Amino acid sequence: MAGCPIDPVKCKSTKSWDIRTGCNGIRALNGLKKAVIRAGLETLYFSGAHALMQPFVGGVGAILTLHHVRPRRADAFQPNQLLEVTPRFLESVVHRLRRARLDLISLDEMHRRLTERDFKRRFVCMTIDDGYRDTLQFAYPILKHNEVPFALYIPTSFPDRLGELWWRALEAVVAHNERIILMVDDRERGFDCATLDDKRHVYDQLYKWVRSFKTEDELRRVVRDLSARYRVDIAAFCEQLCMTWEELGRLAADPLVTIGAHTVNHVMLAKTPERQARAEMAMSRSVIEASLGVRPEHLSYPVGDPSSAGVREFRIAAELGFKTAVTTRPGVIFPEHAQHLTALPRISINGEHQQSRYIGVLLSGAATAMWNGFRRVDAA
Ligand SMILES: [Zn+2]
Repeated sequence: MAGCPIDPVKCKSTKSWDIRTGCNGIRALNGLKKAVIRAGLETLYFSGAHALMQPFVGGVGAILTLHHVRPRRADAFQPNQLLEVTPRFLESVVHRLRRARLDLISLDEMHRRLTERDFKRRFVCMTIDDGYRDTLQFAYPILKHNEVPFALYIPTSFPDRLGELWWRALEAVVAHNERIILMVDDRERGFDCATLDDKRHVYDQLYKWVRSFKTEDELRRVVRDLSARYRVDIAAFCEQLCMTWEELGRLAADPLVTIGAHTVNHVMLAKTPERQARAEMAMSRSVIEASLGVRPEHLSYPVGDPSSAGVREFRIAAELGFKTAVTTRPGVIFPEHAQHLTALPRISINGEHQQSRYIGVLLSGAATAMWNGFRRVDAA
């Protein structure tokens, strides 16, 4: 077999590629990256450096990102675990924010403060992406009880039951098979994924490979083919995991909840033609308005990293009249963001770092400042 078909760039040196040996370098690297992030947070926390850095890097507030909030599951193979936190952890985060005397505010109030330059008090906005049912089951009762306003960004194809949660389909294919065959550059390649270790590795590489495609269409085509071949019902994840319009309606009726747009098909906008990107943003707003009776004024770019949303998307969101739009670029909010309201950074509450003491470090802006090389606005 030739070099690693999944990651030919990093595995160039591997003449005869083998899933157990050929890519060990990358596997070790992934572990190292996580350890460095964790050690970085620990170092900042225990050294107290984040408290010293706060006046310089802490900005005027922060927007937090959540996806799933649900009790821990027993499955050993959970490659998407970084997208979920436990209800208990969310509760401890909320208590920590309250104790820190930060204002927990809505996106509209954040917009007002930024545009009127009202920076007397530091703020935090809570945002939840995708509209999973556990938002209603587990996150909402906690946020309601503590009177925390929050925004919910909905990709409209999810409640319409037409969405493709392709990352879940990929997970199911790897979870339920001991070996998978894949077409790579028109050639069939086989991957062993019998053990937990192999499953994690194959998933990681598959995920990186599909994310490296230039177009969203190509990614969808590969995941659809794989799902069909391994009998994974890609449409079933919406029904299983996402709220219906009726359930969303219950949340939308609460003044604590801001309903935001998250495109129709949860596409990486930068990987679609401009017309399509614009239609995805505009259509999702119209569909939400028609279904829930509220017109979203805030947007979240799906995936939200620089490969999914860039200058073109920031411009389109502004042209469409969204008051704010959020990315997943890590960072806190500075007064300068008033000039970049459709390119706002967020801090992800990552399921792999569920220690509430890390939240203080992240909110101090010290960790993200170090990751961003002390650049305050990243809107390019
Ligand atoms: Zn999303």
